[in-house]
Amino acid sequence: MPRLAYVDGQFVPLAAAAVNVEDRGLQFADSVYEVVAVFNGRLFDWDGHAARLARNLAALAIAPPMADAALARVARRLIAANRATEAILYLQVTRGVARRDHVAAALRPTLVMTVRPFDFAQRVGQQMAGVGVITVPDERWARCDIKTTGLLANVLAKQRARDEGAFEAWLVAADGRVAEGASTNAWIVAADGTLVTPPLTPRVLPGVTRAAVIEAARERRIAVAERDFTVAEAQAACEALITSTTVPVLPVVRIDGATVGDGRPGPITTQLAAAVWDRVAVQTGYRP
Ligand code: PMP
Repeated sequence: MPRLAYVDGQFVPLAAAAVNVEDRGLQFADSVYEVVAVFNGRLFDWDGHAARLARNLAALAIAPPMADAALARVARRLIAANRATEAILYLQVTRGVARRDHVAAALRPTLVMTVRPFDFAQRVGQQMAGVGVITVPDERWARCDIKTTGLLANVLAKQRARDEGAFEAWLVAADGRVAEGASTNAWIVAADGTLVTPPLTPRVLPGVTRAAVIEAARERRIAVAERDFTVAEAQAACEALITSTTVPVLPVVRIDGATVGDGRPGPITTQLAAAVWDRVAVQTGYRP
């Protein structure tokens, strides 16, 4: 597969793709991003990602680099140029380039996109087995609802999880409430069968997959509660799960070494995973 990136109006070989060293994305993480799944060469849930990107840009007063429709056209051209089928599209918008100074004038934003092949079929195996998570203190900034590239705390948390043989790290507030994973939203299934996920506060990223899973649950008459839960409650729950664009629904069968339920993926998680794959199939024709 050819490897081309899009940088500020140009399609360039990935290895040669570069931004200015005075880009505020590099110097200040003054930038937002999206990760979009591509199946059969088609963008999945594009509207949700485009809407979140627009909200994030507005929240930071970064100028949109182009209209949503034009952005989608660039994304599709990049997918086609890379002959990508199952892939991840990465899109980043920074405030732009300026002499380093905390205060920035109005700048022309930098837009970067890359696409890389991604093996979604591997998720099916993980769905059958389930994954483990560890919990770590949430040391991130106070606006985790904005999808900025300031991900150092997330990176360190995820690395710790992998070092300890877990798939994900759940970020936990001082009072024991779980916010979300380092790159996923966190969920449990309570004893009465209610699907529970923390509410959308500044501690939680409004996941596009989170919204799809809530919709799927309601359609299937699974009760949904957006409320906080603690690590202890999750360890004692019937089921636990994580969601994200690249996961998309994975059963969690171990939390800090404690087995969740009977240690196997539960029926509600399995149903929700199937529902999201159905959504993928409807939009893109892809089935894992
Ligand atoms: N929380 C965090 C911190 C994330 O980085 C992600 C992945 N972007 C998510 C949740 C899940 O979001 P989505 O379903 O939109 O991929």
